[in-house]
Amino acid sequence: MNVPDPLAHQAAAGPRWRPAPLLRALGPAFGTLLAPSPLPAVHWVGRSDALAAELGLGSWLASDSALQLLAGNALPPQGDLLASVYSGHQFGQWAGQLGDGRALQLGEIDTPAGAMELQLKGAGLTPYSRMGDGRAVLRSSIREFLCSEAMHALGIPTTRALSVIGSPALVRRETVETAAVVARTAPSFIRFGHFEHFAHTAQDTVALQALVDAVIDSFYPDCRAAPDPLLALLTAVSQRTARLMADWQAVGFCHGVMNTDNMSILGLTIDYGPFGFLDAFDPMHICNHTDQQGRYAFARQPSVAFWNLHALAHGLLPLMPGDQDAAVQAMKDAMEPFKPEFASAMQVRMRAKLGLATAQDGDADLADDLLRLMAQDRVDHTIAWRALARFSMEDGADNAAVRDWFVDRAGFDAWAQRYHSRLQAEASVDAERRARMDRVNPKFVLRNHLAETAITAARGGDFSETQRLLQVLQAPYDEHPDAPAAYAALPPDWAHHLEVSCSS
Ligand code: AMP
Ligand code: MG
Repeated sequence: MNVPDPLAHQAAAGPRWRPAPLLRALGPAFGTLLAPSPLPAVHWVGRSDALAAELGLGSWLASDSALQLLAGNALPPQGDLLASVYSGHQFGQWAGQLGDGRALQLGEIDTPAGAMELQLKGAGLTPYSRMGDGRAVLRSSIREFLCSEAMHALGIPTTRALSVIGSPALVRRETVETAAVVARTAPSFIRFGHFEHFAHTAQDTVALQALVDAVIDSFYPDCRAAPDPLLALLTAVSQRTARLMADWQAVGFCHGVMNTDNMSILGLTIDYGPFGFLDAFDPMHICNHTDQQGRYAFARQPSVAFWNLHALAHGLLPLMPGDQDAAVQAMKDAMEPFKPEFASAMQVRMRAKLGLATAQDGDADLADDLLRLMAQDRVDHTIAWRALARFSMEDGADNAAVRDWFVDRAGFDAWAQRYHSRLQAEASVDAERRARMDRVNPKFVLRNHLAETAITAARGGDFSETQRLLQVLQAPYDEHPDAPAAYAALPPDWAHHLEVSCSS
């Protein structure tokens, strides 16, 4: 007998739209309602069934109605989409008004994971497109899709990606490429730049206050009870941002364009452009070819985040009553927890990466000295950390699995002796430690050349590599014995010539 699945209908029915999405409810000062620009001959490039399941969208994601909606070729029930307006600092300079130049909010949906905003990136021109064409290319869309899902699987707060849809429509960048649309989700895509916009560009303190209130009520309800909710919000955002920076630094993720319009008020990784994971460890690695000064070099990310928080604070300043000097000081004090939060988050992550079960003096030096050796020898960041879990305390163990990655063997041996004593001091057990370390040091990250291989295949109409890579990246701590060896290996020689720029 066939028993009908009571949830099947709901899953196939698609998103359950919320009647009053946050930014829409705030009113016309926050953006423009418009229709997306349809694309011809749209087709699936990639879908995250894992995300669809989490959102309760189930089998709907495979349907033609999903394809049309997520391509921007069909309208959601309310009949139009929202492009929101924001401003921001780019590469340290005030850039004035920006806004969703090619991202359109489809709406908010009720999901088992809470209310989620659904956004289409690349769905056509908006009033904020400036010189752009409102489109995204297949290349950068596949990168955003894969990396969003990879970061989530690494345990790092991020916007998610439900799908990439391709079209033969041509888009001009340095060369002519084809268009794509990424459907991405997050509880909110509000950026530091939204606040800066109402403070500096619109100079509308009523709207600014409304935005702050909505963000507190929806995402930081604890701040409402604080003596000064605005300062409490600034502290909470500083702490979330600090933890995000520790996540990035620990895994070797370089964002590439940490402009204030690319900083999430929820402390999410947002706007994947010229990002990169470190291969050979170089603290001053610059992943964005456009960033010639290295403003957003890997090691600078935490201090840039702190700078960006100051820009956010400046955007909140019009809401501070009374003497301005006192207000500025109060805001500086409110952001101060960024530093201890980052330091302690970093310590927790580095101890875990080293497999230490207890906290002892000198742990930070032990981690720093290993990183120094890795930097000196340009050791591969992901491989070295993963290999360290194979370190054995047994007498006579040669530990070649990790030692051989270092050129300076004597330097490594001296460090390994300290590591060995440190492990002995907490009676560490090889097998237990290895299992713990393998849950925090990923075997697989989205190296540029892996994305490039998937992109090249996709350009030729073969999307299987995108899906295969996605499946491995969705479980980056597992061994995946059947995955291609190249996924976890050193980058090939051709990868050294890959350049990733802001062009997307
Ligand atoms: P990004 O550096 O990609 O975060 O983009 C900075 C700003 O430029 C944002 O306001 C984007 O919406 C806008 N933008 C980037 N590329 C395009 C494009 N092709 N068409 C329209 N706007 C764009
Ligand atoms: Mg952006």
